[in-house]
Amino acid sequence: MPTVRQRIIDLIQARAMDAREISTAAGVGEKEVYVHMEHIARSVSGKGKTFRLNPAACLACGYVFRDRRRMTRPSRCPRCKAQRVSLPTYSITG
Ligand SMILES: [Zn+2]
Repeated sequence: MPTVRQRIIDLIQARAMDAREISTAAGVGEKEVYVHMEHIARSVSGKGKTFRLNPAACLACGYVFRDRRRMTRPSRCPRCKAQRVSLPTYSITG
């Protein structure tokens, strides 16, 4: 039986997913997903793989949160102040 963390790794190696999708697929809470993701991001790089945080974007004006390194969704857009912001997705390549 694989651990939750291993299950998440398998999921995002297959395709990029956001925390909500991972939460459903791995059977853990969304907040828990963010905690696992911090660990996964650090641990996979030592195994010759690349963790990618695909940035969130503002659904109102299209602003992309490229410089953001946190795993969570930003609460509002710094450009237009809208709160309709997409979830970032995560993937592992290599
Ligand atoms: Zn915006």
